Amino acid sequence: MSAPTDAQRMEKIVSLCKRRGFIFQSSEIYGGLNGAWDYGPLGVELKRNLKNYWWRVIVHERDDVVGMDGAILTHPAVLKASGHVEGFSDPMVDCLITGKRFRADQIDGQSGQIAEFVGAVDALSFHKLTREGETPERSTIWSKTDIAPALRMVFKNQSGGFRGEEGSGFVEFGDVPEAKLDSLRKLIEQNLFTSASLQPFSALDMTGDLKNFVSISKRGFNPTIKLAQEFYEKRGVPFPVVFMLRPKTVENTKRYNPENGALLTEPRPFNLMFKTYVGATEDESSIAYLRPETAQSIFVQFKTILEVSRKKLPFGIAQIGKAFRNEINPRNFTFRSREFEQMELEYFCRPEQAIELLEYWKNERLKFYENVGISRANLHVRNVPDEERAFYSKGTYDIEYDFPFGRQELEGVAYRTDYDLLQHQKASGKSLEHFDDEAKERFIPHVVEPSAGVDRTILALICDAYAEDQAPNDKGEMESRVVLRFHPRMAPIKCAIFPLLKNKEPLVAKAKEIVALLRPHMTVFYDEGGAIGRRYRRQDEIGTPFGVTIDFETLGEKDPALRDTVTLRDRDSMKQERVAIEDLPSILRERIR
Ligand code: ATP
Repeated sequence: MSAPTDAQRMEKIVSLCKRRGFIFQSSEIYGGLNGAWDYGPLGVELKRNLKNYWWRVIVHERDDVVGMDGAILTHPAVLKASGHVEGFSDPMVDCLITGKRFRADQIDGQSGQIAEFVGAVDALSFHKLTREGETPERSTIWSKTDIAPALRMVFKNQSGGFRGEEGSGFVEFGDVPEAKLDSLRKLIEQNLFTSASLQPFSALDMTGDLKNFVSISKRGFNPTIKLAQEFYEKRGVPFPVVFMLRPKTVENTKRYNPENGALLTEPRPFNLMFKTYVGATEDESSIAYLRPETAQSIFVQFKTILEVSRKKLPFGIAQIGKAFRNEINPRNFTFRSREFEQMELEYFCRPEQAIELLEYWKNERLKFYENVGISRANLHVRNVPDEERAFYSKGTYDIEYDFPFGRQELEGVAYRTDYDLLQHQKASGKSLEHFDDEAKERFIPHVVEPSAGVDRTILALICDAYAEDQAPNDKGEMESRVVLRFHPRMAPIKCAIFPLLKNKEPLVAKAKEIVALLRPHMTVFYDEGGAIGRRYRRQDEIGTPFGVTIDFETLGEKDPALRDTVTLRDRDSMKQERVAIEDLPSILRERIR
């Protein structure tokens, strides 16, 4: 079952991300670079928190994993051996009208009526011939005995519609399409039309809705006919009269552009790697690629790293870094980008351990997402069926999240067998075997790979945190607020510090002291502007979990026992507790860890 989509919610999230400095379109002042995003001041903090936490649980808190940071520029031999140069492609189709490119496997099935167009001729000639046909005895063309039958066949029982007397339009070929088409060809050979095209072309009725089937009239085909006219016009037929075959019903077809109903080209493979040249010459010998995944540099360095770190199997190498894929159709905000970051672990083991480790890592990774604050109800595990898995994988789980635009993959946990190491061993001629001291045997380790996307997880964190609820303003009246309920561990700013009034020097001085006290431990934000409720609201909207207010009691003006205490407000419960300033660092550190 897939999750319902919510375009309005997504729009609000995208606009909040821009307004508050999480994520911007890259090169925006020049119109934007499609598939590339820049993270602003808050976005970069969120991203760092996520990456640091991943690194902490995958590398620092374990004995069996070490890290590495490989180069982005990759030797072509690496990607030839891994199969990327030959096979890292997606099926690509183009719209015959707009030229827009789609990934064939991502087009949703459509059902409806299709009209097939067999060709077009220019309107002026078409109408001239029709008019002459009304009085054929006076026409020099119609009296030509050799083409008169063809003329009669095309213009007999002609049904269609035209924009004005001499305008473009359509003709429906009806019962004898072949005979009409043959006749038309003959007329075209006689140069009776100023320009003509008889290229087959289909277009899907835009409604794409079977319920309309019975009621579809020719008028219902207007968008389809317009598309066909546009198609022929672009191919040199002015004011085209298009020839349409009788419409057919189709179901669940992926052959048409979902946006305008036009036919798409046949799928062609499109390699997703970005190619570049290293050095001053641009020829075959200087080709390098921007890595399409971080994994390959781990495989290539596997032996060296195992040796220098003096670990035993099972053993993992972790890496966080940029990857590049020339996605055919970047979409859904940052979800499918051309430049993105991955957090990958290659966990090497004996073959007989792999299936158990696949389960283990799937569970570990689910725990991770819960620990960064994503609700379990929105996470799903998909056991990827045989036919969808990479040919070398003996088991893959996709961890999916219910985004507002549907359920989509966050991370793949795959048992990649010994495929990668074996490939690199064969291609490089260097042994990548491991010698097991205890078993006294040599073998190529097998690999379980949890591979997560930083950007997709950031998007999931924001989507999961986004909420609208009610909160009291300064007068105690309830008003609606937007709040990002980030887990304190992930929140870009951990604590906001507010002096109650900005023109009371002792309050401001105390507040600044607290900023200095907390800054070595966490990100803080000092804000003295506006009513306190408004200041809370600004922080709620960016997900700051804690707010500290310095008031007159802090100065001991009302009750000396309260001197050097502040109110600590919780973003979600909106409850306030009174705590001593000196306890703030330890209380907060505990809550944000
Ligand atoms: P998809 O099927 O969505 O293209 P994939 O199965 O090709 O993804 P993997 O090759 O398994 O993805 O990459 C591992 C992870 O890297 C993905 O789960 C995802 O989080 C991230 N990722 C892959 N491609 C992109 C992209 N174009 N933009 C952002 N993140 C991506």
